[in-house]
Amino acid sequence: MKEGRIIKALSGFYYVKSNDLVYQCRGRGVFRNQKITPLVGDFVEFEAGDENEGYIMKIKPRSNELVRPPIANITQAILVSSAHSPDFSSTLLDRFLVLIESKHVEPVIFITKVDTLTQSEKTEIENVKKSYERIGYPVELISTKDSEYLPDLTSYFKDKVTVIAGQSGVGKSSLINALDPTLFLETAEISRSLGRGKHTTRHVELLELFGGLVADTPGFSALDFSEIEAEELADCFPEFRERRQLCKFRGCLHHKEPKCAVKESVDNGEIEFFRYEHYLSFLEEIQSRKPRY
Ligand code: GDP
Ligand code: ZN
Repeated sequence: MKEGRIIKALSGFYYVKSNDLVYQCRGRGVFRNQKITPLVGDFVEFEAGDENEGYIMKIKPRSNELVRPPIANITQAILVSSAHSPDFSSTLLDRFLVLIESKHVEPVIFITKVDTLTQSEKTEIENVKKSYERIGYPVELISTKDSEYLPDLTSYFKDKVTVIAGQSGVGKSSLINALDPTLFLETAEISRSLGRGKHTTRHVELLELFGGLVADTPGFSALDFSEIEAEELADCFPEFRERRQLCKFRGCLHHKEPKCAVKESVDNGEIEFFRYEHYLSFLEEIQSRKPRY
């Protein structure tokens, strides 16, 4: 039995990479009883036949999985926001961060289109960068139109399985194209010239980029919190996570409870107020959600 990783799923076939060879595999028997279907990103055991074909026999336990796009064992999400058009929103950024954290994926923040900013807007966005770096997130301010703002970002990708996330129009495809023109993803201009919406071909593939793998489809496109429970929300804020053991009450939601270490940190400025505000509004959204059944 060989071992490998599924790097592409298309038309009922799974393409499994093993020792620099790619095997075109079908699923068979055993794992169907596991009640899971193989996903791109899965580590599998397979039986190889002739001509680099094979049958997948077993799917190894996953560290995480996404539904849209269907992909497993992601290590990192590069979250792309733009500084301008669409305008930067820390609420939206925090929403993405919570979703990424809830899947136990490491976030990295790229803010694009800094070439379009005035001096005072630039100062503002640099303060945003500092706020998120203080929380512990890596942040890069970049532009794909001005090389002065395109540092070497390749080290971010090495040895990682990356999903790129972010609203449409923020510059995700432009960024990948600027980093490696041979991959060439469709940007807004190209879609328009072809007279179609972006991402019309739907299969998922992991592409090799700078010593790592990158999903060719943006992730975390569903932005609701339907899979997050109120008790889990604070764990998706790293600066809350590290203080919550100090709250008086176990299961403290850091809202109306007395002797709350998170609220004390907000009061003394160790936790930024905007983050706490976003936490409360997300909490309210989760608590007012209708039961699904
Ligand atoms: P995606 O939907 O996130 O993949 O965004 P695209 O890569 O298609 O970019 C959306 C639009 O923003 C296109 O018109 C790009 O040319 C433009 N754009 C992308 N990056 C930058 C940038 O760094 N600076 C400026 N000024 N425009 C950019
Ligand atoms: Zn608390």
